[in-house]
Amino acid sequence: MSSVQINPQILADATEFIRADPEGAAEFLAEIDPISWMHHIELKTEKGEPIEFRDHKPLIGIYSDFHPDQVYQKAAQIGITETAINKILWLGDHRNLTFIYVFPTADDVYKFSQGRFNPVIKGNFYLRKRMRSSDNATQKQIANSWIYFRGAQKETQAISIPADGLVIDEFDFAPPDILDVFTKRLEASRTPLTWRFSTPTIPKYGINAWFEQTDQRHWLVKCDRCNRWQRIDFWRNVRARKGIHRFVCWKCGKLLQRRSGIWVAKYPTRATDAVYDARGYLHEPASGLRGYFVNPLAFTFITAEKKWQTWVKAEHSSRAAAIKNFYNFDLGVPYVSGESLITTDTIRNSMKPDFDVQGFNVFGCDQGDILHWVVKHISPDGTRPIVAFGVTNSFEEAYTRFVEFACRLGVIDALPNKHSARQLVQKSHKRLYMAYYKDQNEASKERIEDKKPDKPTNYSHSKQETQTLLLDRAETLDTSAKEWIDGRAYLARPRDSQAEDVQEFIEQMAAMVRDIQEDSKGIARVVWVKTGPDHYRHADNYASIAADLRTIGPITDLSVGGSIANILPQELDFGFGPMKPDDLMPRESDFGISTFKDF
Ligand SMILES: [Zn+2]
Repeated sequence: MSSVQINPQILADATEFIRADPEGAAEFLAEIDPISWMHHIELKTEKGEPIEFRDHKPLIGIYSDFHPDQVYQKAAQIGITETAINKILWLGDHRNLTFIYVFPTADDVYKFSQGRFNPVIKGNFYLRKRMRSSDNATQKQIANSWIYFRGAQKETQAISIPADGLVIDEFDFAPPDILDVFTKRLEASRTPLTWRFSTPTIPKYGINAWFEQTDQRHWLVKCDRCNRWQRIDFWRNVRARKGIHRFVCWKCGKLLQRRSGIWVAKYPTRATDAVYDARGYLHEPASGLRGYFVNPLAFTFITAEKKWQTWVKAEHSSRAAAIKNFYNFDLGVPYVSGESLITTDTIRNSMKPDFDVQGFNVFGCDQGDILHWVVKHISPDGTRPIVAFGVTNSFEEAYTRFVEFACRLGVIDALPNKHSARQLVQKSHKRLYMAYYKDQNEASKERIEDKKPDKPTNYSHSKQETQTLLLDRAETLDTSAKEWIDGRAYLARPRDSQAEDVQEFIEQMAAMVRDIQEDSKGIARVVWVKTGPDHYRHADNYASIAADLRTIGPITDLSVGGSIANILPQELDFGFGPMKPDDLMPRESDFGISTFKDF
C-alpha cells in the first residue's frame, strides 16, 4: 500500500514526455494516476457514456487522494461510489490487494453489482481482459487483486479473509457492531486503508461525528467580482432573479462560477499525506484523518432552481421525514428538528435547588459497566425534579439508595445482568420492576404516521416474566424528553453548580438525539440515537415509567395526609420493617436537609 502515492517527480517527467511520445506518455500516466488510467483504458459509465469531470470538478481532487483514512460526508447521487470503485480498481490493477466493499444491505450489493458494476466491465475491453469471474455478484477479481462486496446487515455477511482495504458505503446506515467485524479483517495488513462515506443523518453522529475529527476539506469558490472565497450554502448563496433561482456571491450578489474552486482544509495539520523521496521510497507515513464535505451545490450539473423546487416540495410535504431528507440527501448536511431535543442548556436553564417535598419518590436505574441511578420526585403540582442521582458498581448499593430515598416504585434495566436485576425485583416486594426495550425491528413495523394520538401506554407487561415491563424505546424516550422540554422535569441543584457529577448528569441527559429514519419503502420511524454516554438519560426514562405506573388519576390525590392516607392501609411492610404511609413520602431527614443547601 505504501507506494500508491503519486510521485511528483515521475508526474513531471511524464508530462514533459507527452509532446515527444503521446502514446507512451498516456500509458506511463495511467500507471501513476487513476484518471489518466480511466482515459487510457477508455472507461465508460454504466450507460456507455464517457466519464466527464466538467460538471463533477470536485471529484478530480478526490481521485488523486490515497490517504489511508478517509471520511466523506456527502449528498446522494454525486458519484462518490463510482469514484471509490474506480480508485480501488486502479489500485487492484497495479498491486496485489484485497478489498472489502460494504453496502448497508445484501440487496444493495446485488443491485450495485448487476445494475452498475457489471455493465461497466462488460462495456470495457481492457477490464474484460483483466477481470475474471465477473458473474459472481459478491466477489470480483482484477489482475491478482480481489474485491469482496458485502452487506452490513448480518454478521454472517462478514468474511474471514484478511484484507488490505475496507470501503464502507452509506456508513450511517450500517450497524456499528458489524462494521467492527469487518475492521478486524484489516488487522494483518501493515498499512490498512479505511474509507468511509455516507449521507449524514443527525449532527455529531455517524459520518458527521467522523468528519468533525478530520482535516475537514471544503470546496471553496472565488467570486470573480469581489474576490471573496466562499463555501456554497443553500440559504446564503441561492437568490431568485427574474423568478429563476441562481447561485450568487453572498457578499456582492454576482453570479458564482462554481467550477473555479479548490479543496481547502479547515484544519490542515490534522491529516498529512505520506512523504516519498525522489526514488519512491517511503520517507514519512500518512497521519490523521482526511475528510471531505462533498457539497452537491459545488457540482454544476445541479442547478439552483432545481434544488429550490426540491426544497419547496419538501417544505410542503406531509411526510414526516421530508425536510430532514432534504437536508441529508439533497444538501449533504446533518439535520435534527428542534422538537424533542434536550440540550445541555435545556437542563442547565431549568435547574433550581428547591422542590415541593410533598409527593413521592420513584427510582430509575440503568445497567452498563456500572449502574447509574436517579431518584425522581413526583410533586403534587406535577413537577418531577431529579432529587438525587449517582453511580455504583453494586446492585446491593443501588437497592440501598432505592430504600433510603423511600422510593415508592422503581424500574431497573433488565440487561445485561438479568440475574442480579431479578434478585432486586424479588427482594422489593413488587416495588421494583425490570424493563426491556422492545425489539427494534418490532418497533420499526409501526408507521409513525399511523400512530394513534392517544395511545394509552407506551409500555406493556411481559406475559412470560412477572414484574417485567416491555418498553417501546422510541415512545418512552419521546415521553421522558417532553418532561424536560416542558420544564416539568428538572434537576434539583443550583443553576451555577459546577460539581463534576452534575456536569456529567447534564451531558448524559443531552447525549441522545431524536431522528426520523425512512426504510427503503419510505416508511418512517422514530429512532433515538446515542451521541455519547447516555446512562442517566435511560435511568431518567426508567424513573418516568415508574412514575407513570403510579400516577393514574389526578396527581393531587397523592399528597401526604390527603387521600393517599385513605387508600393505603395504616401500616405497610415491604420487607424491611413496618412503615406508615407517610414513610413512603420523602422527608428532609431522609436526604439530610443540609445536603439540599449544599447542592
Ligand atoms: Zn462577490
